[in-house]
Amino acid sequence: MIDYKDKVVIITGGGSGLGRAAAMSIAKQGGKLVLVDMSKDGLEESKKEILAAASDAQIETVEVNVTNEEDVKNYVDFTIRKFGKIDGFFNNAGIEGKQNLTEEYGSDEFEKVINVNLNGVFYGMKYVLKVMKEQGYGSIVNTASVGGIRGVGNQSGYAASKHGVVGLTRNSGIEYGEFGISINAIAPGAIMTPMVEGSLKQMAGDNWEAAGKEFVSVNPMKRFGKPEEVGNLVAFLLSDAAKFINASVIPIDGGQSYKY
Ligand code: NAD
Repeated sequence: MIDYKDKVVIITGGGSGLGRAAAMSIAKQGGKLVLVDMSKDGLEESKKEILAAASDAQIETVEVNVTNEEDVKNYVDFTIRKFGKIDGFFNNAGIEGKQNLTEEYGSDEFEKVINVNLNGVFYGMKYVLKVMKEQGYGSIVNTASVGGIRGVGNQSGYAASKHGVVGLTRNSGIEYGEFGISINAIAPGAIMTPMVEGSLKQMAGDNWEAAGKEFVSVNPMKRFGKPEEVGNLVAFLLSDAAKFINASVIPIDGGQSYKY
């Protein structure tokens, strides 16, 4: 049922971590990709790794900042010019921001995190949904986080932005179901990507690897998630096999968010 032949998928944050892993999974199943990121090097590396694993993959890259609405409109227009349609959209680019107690959390930092994680996701939905509504089909997966469904602490901007992503997903999911469009969010726990490495370094400096081991010792599965595990979930959710899943938020965290 998961067949990406002739399917076109846009992935933001496609230059690293979860975006790259989802791109890999979809490319291996025959999908055409538009990878979007602000990191030129990240995009080039993603393309290289994917072509090494799936040599006939069709991959376009677009260097943009998702906080800029005009940039977002441009990557959507580019996709239509290049491929004529959008079947799937992994709306995923995000940052963690600095960790701090709420009273010490910088207002600039708060604004910055909201700009990328919430405004960027909103802009993406806005322009992609216009195309998908006209087409009469399409699937969107927004990246929330366990921090979007539970309190994590020291992450005011991140928590607010990711709870916002959950709200956007539920709101638009019920708006667009009747147009043949499904919109869901994923809520990953700690998945070992450059973002999580950076987060552990913020907490523990040079001892970050030991801190990581301690961090996952309370996870029911006693380990970090792997980017490819998230990539495979996204590939399923954006496929025709998952069409009746809509307005849902799906944790992928080894069971952590259900632990008492
Ligand atoms: P990552 O840092 O490896 O990748 C994020 C990518 O987004 C980078 O390539 C970066 O250049 C890009 N990006 C950041 N800001 C951008 C902007 N303004 N415009 C365009 N591109 C931008 O991190 P990741 O772990 O792959 O995170 C991907 C998403 O998953 C994020 O939304 C993150 O909040 C979320 N998430 C990650 C985890 C985890 O444990 N890794 C857990 C929960 C949620």
